[in-house]
Amino acid sequence: MQNSFNKRKEKILEFNTAMEELNLRKRITASIPKEIPEDLIVKCPSCQRFIIKDNYILDHKVCPYCNHHGRLTSKERIIDVMDLGYTELFTNIKEKYLDFPDYEAKLEKAKKDTGEDESVMCVEGKIDGIKCLVGVMDSFFMMGSMGSVCGERITRLIEKATEEKLPLILFTTSGGARMQEGVISLFQMAKTSQALAKYRENGLYIAVLTDPTTGGVSASFASLADITISEPNALIGFAGKRVIERTIKETLPKEFQTAEFLLDKGYIDMISDRKDLKKTLALLLRLHNYR
Ligand SMILES: [Zn+2]
Repeated sequence: MQNSFNKRKEKILEFNTAMEELNLRKRITASIPKEIPEDLIVKCPSCQRFIIKDNYILDHKVCPYCNHHGRLTSKERIIDVMDLGYTELFTNIKEKYLDFPDYEAKLEKAKKDTGEDESVMCVEGKIDGIKCLVGVMDSFFMMGSMGSVCGERITRLIEKATEEKLPLILFTTSGGARMQEGVISLFQMAKTSQALAKYRENGLYIAVLTDPTTGGVSASFASLADITISEPNALIGFAGKRVIERTIKETLPKEFQTAEFLLDKGYIDMISDRKDLKKTLALLLRLHNYR
């Protein structure tokens, strides 16, 4: 075991040097050289540089060259911010949807591809020893779209937080309401908002808006937090930039709908690098007397 670990470590150090060289030579559009196994390398989607996969994962999927925050699955996010030993909640809630053409097949494919059963995962656990309820959306599951199951899970999580007087943290990433569920998907906006209105009389709700948070999610619970945090350069907005430009017949600034732009306008309270996020959340919980 130790031997194979050391061997892997050696290989990675060797590849690291090769990667550095490759990036320094600015062959950033070159394909991965044959001698380096493809499954050990990732390419940053922003600066296009090559990164050793193990290093990328250890860096919380953040590019060491340009600080691009890669997208995380719900499980990766939970592992990243929570202490070991969390419990998944509301897994028994099943689909209730309209008979939209091909929806069932699409849903099955999303389940198979991601290994998840919906676009949100709700857990009960601890962050730095502080008990809390956490919901994490997953952009890899049908673009994190919100249908009836997603809305129901989030609503039940909020209600549980209200009953048990626990802090609530929601990580959002979504393309919006799930169109295949028609008006049912839009109901989820009102349902989650109503549950939050009740919760917020006595509890602390922190929303962490991650790339991308748009549509019905941004127009409901993502915008209703006591404290709103975002990750660097995350896309946050309701309608797409081009749609707005065409409607108002004006050119919008380049940084429009980025976390930095929204921080400047007061829509979000702080931007936190992913590596600091767990510490930031724990500090905020302690400041509000949660132990
Ligand atoms: Zn990069």
